[in-house]
Amino acid sequence: MNIEIPYKIYLEESEMPKQWYNVRADMKNKPAPILNPATLKPVTVEELSPIFCTELAKQELDETTPYFDIPEEIREFYKMYRPAPLVRAYCLEKKLGTPAHIYYKFEGNNTSGSHKLNSAIAQAYYAKKQGLKGVTTETGAGQWGTALSMACSYFDLDCQVYMVKVSYEQKPFRREVMRTYGAQVTPSPSMKTEVGRKINAEFPGTTGSLGCAISEAVEAATTQEGYRYVLGSVLSQVLIHQTVIGLETKAALDKYGIKADMIIGCAGGGSNLGGLISPFAGEILRGEADYDIIAVEPASCPSLTRGRYAYDYCDTGKICPLAKMYTLGSGFIPSPNHAGGLRYHGMSSIVSQLYDDGIITARSVEQTEVFKAAEMFARVEGILPAPESSHAIKVAIDEALKCKETGEEKNIVFGLTGTGYFDMVAYQKYNDGEMSDYIPTDEELEKSFATLPKVE
Ligand SMILES: *Cc1c(COP(=O)(O)O)cnc(C)c1O
Repeated sequence: MNIEIPYKIYLEESEMPKQWYNVRADMKNKPAPILNPATLKPVTVEELSPIFCTELAKQELDETTPYFDIPEEIREFYKMYRPAPLVRAYCLEKKLGTPAHIYYKFEGNNTSGSHKLNSAIAQAYYAKKQGLKGVTTETGAGQWGTALSMACSYFDLDCQVYMVKVSYEQKPFRREVMRTYGAQVTPSPSMKTEVGRKINAEFPGTTGSLGCAISEAVEAATTQEGYRYVLGSVLSQVLIHQTVIGLETKAALDKYGIKADMIIGCAGGGSNLGGLISPFAGEILRGEADYDIIAVEPASCPSLTRGRYAYDYCDTGKICPLAKMYTLGSGFIPSPNHAGGLRYHGMSSIVSQLYDDGIITARSVEQTEVFKAAEMFARVEGILPAPESSHAIKVAIDEALKCKETGEEKNIVFGLTGTGYFDMVAYQKYNDGEMSDYIPTDEELEKSFATLPKVE
């Protein structure tokens, strides 16, 4: 077969997935159940319902239903920015002089600038359907808060965002985008919540972490009537919504008869990676195909490559359910000079189990190398990538260069999760030669592992 591959492979609207895929249905080893932090027993939908929307709580705990219908209202919203293109990186291939074929799935084609909108709109939809007044959440770099603000304004819901303090200060424009969409944005840790006041007292001057912000947002949701908490990553429900990425990618590849050899994604909490790889991992699990799947994480926050596979708290305040995952310990706060996103201490329980079972592999990369890859990509492919996405770019480039040595014409697919327009402070550091790499020592990690709860 000799079909010419266009620079951008677009799907028709009618080819957009009508269902999300739940890879747990095909996993022989299911992720361990999430536990109630008070009883240490597996949580039930009833126990999750005061925190999460009921429909989302059901998705969270459902490990047997392989497909969930995407409600028509969500599909209509998706049509504003989807199907997202799968791009053949001809210019990057040429620059590298590689025989490999590189493809990237671009999720930055919406105002929030990342894939996070795929789940934000789903979560806002279920909140609206349940008749809630609003939702609370945390945001780190700001992409999730922006996505959720957009989704909430679309469905006319109140949106309260706790934003990690360091980002709140470094990214005033992100904050203003959220406010433009009607969200209320509070720097975290704040003095608004009990847990925020406690963290501020214990760590004066702290620049915050995702874990702290989650605790504040959960407290805010459970102490206001008609509110629920929503989360932009880590949870299985989020990963399910993000499978729209992988399903479209697979449909686009199939359309041109392309068989991927390698699929690469960046991993913070694991949602875009899980969403991108789920349909492919499903084929591996069912014995239908084989792929090299690589999760890429920062060397400064290396949950998969250096973490423990253990039950841990999902938040610093220890009020969320416990999940068994690859984790650095909920007490882990990445160095403030780490600019490149992906700062969460843990990892999706689905991604963790797939990794533990050897279905996927993982690699960690240092941030100066990541920005070097980002710069090359921006210069040849035109898109200014988000630092998070650039972790995947870095490994895709590494792998393409290996193919140059071996002469292999591998098909390398990676997830380009978003754009980096709001990350110019980080780019500035890189351009000024002031970016440093901070890699935690074993001793520091041990200290953090000591905060792991004793379960089992
Ligand atoms: C949030 C974010 C990530 C990391 O989150 P995951 O849940 O690991 O996907 C990656 N890239 C971009 C652009 C993001 O906004």
